[in-house]
Amino acid sequence: MYKLPSAPLITAQEINSRVDSLASELKAFDFDVILSALTGSYMFTADLSRRIATPKLRIAFIKASSYGESDKPNANVHISGLEGLDIKGKRVLLIDDILDTGNTMYSLVKALADYSPASITTCVLLNKESRRTVNYHADFVGFEIEDKFVVGYGLDYANTYRTYPEVWALEEA
Ligand code: 5GP
Ligand code: MG
Repeated sequence: MYKLPSAPLITAQEINSRVDSLASELKAFDFDVILSALTGSYMFTADLSRRIATPKLRIAFIKASSYGESDKPNANVHISGLEGLDIKGKRVLLIDDILDTGNTMYSLVKALADYSPASITTCVLLNKESRRTVNYHADFVGFEIEDKFVVGYGLDYANTYRTYPEVWALEEA
């Protein structure tokens, strides 16, 4: 069993001001499409997208799930929602919740490249650099964190804890 510790790892206020600063950097890119990897990045995507809104900016969702030994660099990542994706010649902002081994983001970027976008810029809320097994780096990172299992602000443990506005490092109960 797991429980929440007495204080969050990252407060809602800290997230809010970091999302503000990320947005002010990302605005300059004039993206055509935000592509959000469900489900973990839903809250981050909502907060970021409203801060970089432009008339032409579209939003689309894909889903990446790993199967096999997800800790291994060659774990298979299944991507759904690519059907009918119109990103040809478009400037794409790809958003995910967390970079762990790097496998998911690496696979997503590789798959999206087949659709000939003009560019793919990647942004993750959290990065666990020490866990990386695939040589992959996101263009924009919200927060660097240690190797702890985190939940909240979209991230789940067995589909729970997602709706918390803060990021928490789960503890053994
Ligand atoms: P990667 O493919 O980089 O190893 O893993 C990325 C995915 O694993 C994330 O999109 C997320 O779904 C899941 N993940 C990795 N670390 C954590 C964590 O600390 N907490 C939660 N809730 N999910 C994680
Ligand atoms: Mg995920």
